[in-house]
Amino acid sequence: MTNPHAARDIDTSRPHSARMYDYYLGGKDHFEVDKQAAETVATAYPAIFVCARENRAFMHRATRVLAREHGIRQWLDIGTGIPTEPNLHQVAQSVVPEARVVYADNDPLVLKYAERLMRSTRQGRTTYVQADVNDPETLLNAPELAEVLDLDQPVALSLNALLHFVTDAQDPYGLVERLLSVLPSGSALAISHCTPDFDPATWEKVTSIYTNAGTPVQFRSQKDVSRFFTGLDLLEPGIAVGHRWRPDAADEDAVTAKPPTDAEVSLWTGVGIKP
Ligand code: SAH
Repeated sequence: MTNPHAARDIDTSRPHSARMYDYYLGGKDHFEVDKQAAETVATAYPAIFVCARENRAFMHRATRVLAREHGIRQWLDIGTGIPTEPNLHQVAQSVVPEARVVYADNDPLVLKYAERLMRSTRQGRTTYVQADVNDPETLLNAPELAEVLDLDQPVALSLNALLHFVTDAQDPYGLVERLLSVLPSGSALAISHCTPDFDPATWEKVTSIYTNAGTPVQFRSQKDVSRFFTGLDLLEPGIAVGHRWRPDAADEDAVTAKPPTDAEVSLWTGVGIKP
């Protein structure tokens, strides 16, 4: 497939995680090479489409719960992905129109579509920063971040389907700790993370496919995902499989599809509050 948005700074010769994820979600913003890699993953793990949809649905629910029950009005969403409606700010602003959201991703293709992430309500505000989670100082010092977020007020740090792209050698625990360190009490951490716990053989294959395609990944156990929440108060039901974290009727996927199995979803999810 050709894509009219192809640009010189976008490498279309090898697959990229953001565009593979767009393919899993049924989007159109990917290239042939991404589709082929995504189909190879789907051969090893046919439920990847279920996993992607449930991942998105978790983000919707976590955002609503934080806005409704925990007074969160600001979000920092890293590893945003290619825009898929509703995006986080649309979910948040449907509850609190004044919600402010800073999006960040390191894929230049996401930057190309960032305009879609900026269609804020009049009362709220959104912006996009091209940044790598492995370099938190650059992100935290970005002028756009200071313009949109008031770091004296609680912020929800949203790391959805991001941390399995950060291997232990890159110190993901230290990165999350650093990001949380600048946020005040009452701030939140929301994470979704793919796991090999329910079907190790399949996830070994998925790991090889991503790694061979040039994207190192590290899928983690429930215990290792829990470690990201050290020092935070975990909301009920704790670290749960994606579709089991506060299911509600508002997500179309949740009401129309037959309930998936834990192995199909293969995502650990959780939300914690900074005391
Ligand atoms: N958060 C979205 C998209 C998840 S796909 C959702 O849950 O629906 C993972 C995203 O993380 C991709 O867009 C990819 O480009 C981004 N990503 C991967 N490694 C990253 C890094 N080191 N820094 C910032 N973003 C990264």
